[in-house]
Amino acid sequence: SSFQALSLSRPILRGLGTVGFTKPTPIQSKAIPIALMGKDVVGGAVTGSGKTAAFVVPILERLLYRPKKVPTTRVVILMPTRELAIQCHAVATKLASHTDIKFCLAVGGLSLKVQEAELRLRPDVVIATPGRFIDHMRNSPSFTIETTEILVLDEADRMLEDGFADELNEILTSMPKSRQTMLFSATMTSSVDRLIRVGMNKPVRVMV
Ligand code: AMP
Repeated sequence: SSFQALSLSRPILRGLGTVGFTKPTPIQSKAIPIALMGKDVVGGAVTGSGKTAAFVVPILERLLYRPKKVPTTRVVILMPTRELAIQCHAVATKLASHTDIKFCLAVGGLSLKVQEAELRLRPDVVIATPGRFIDHMRNSPSFTIETTEILVLDEADRMLEDGFADELNEILTSMPKSRQTMLFSATMTSSVDRLIRVGMNKPVRVMV
């Protein structure tokens, strides 16, 4: 099977060419079609499975095919660590290199002021760690999450282990209910299950 079989658009296929991906990994072939239908996805997948492209590709398709007239932050991707967020941002930017989709990386260690200025321009996609994201929710007057159409929680088990359960709950309950949510986790603990119950709508489970 190939990415062509997933009926992706030209700019995305070119982006996959740019990163050198020719055949989808199992999590990609299973999760991409479900996510493209707009359904919530729970993915049981570890780092190395190719889960980044599994959620980035359907996100890019939606942004391209339901464009907005004014800049709007439409996607939020939360990752447990700064390093993972930086990696995700690098891959996503390359996959989107044949589009004009804008990203903002919001992690600790980078200037809050600079990030605030970037967020004010309403990048399509914000990639953040939960701590820094909450910081912006509370303290950046111009930052809004009301326009969120897609939320990704990557490595949810790790974010919960790191003590971000309250933050994640606050984020989930503050975002529009009509959004699409994708959650990835290497392990399905009871706290991950609780998060799924609180924050997701009839998710389709994809295990690889
Ligand atoms: P991830 O689990 O998203 O961190 O990806 C793990 C590694 O697999 C990264 O080095 C990716 O560049 C690579 N990768 C992901 N998807 C594919 C693919 N379809 N073909 C080849 N390599 C891939």
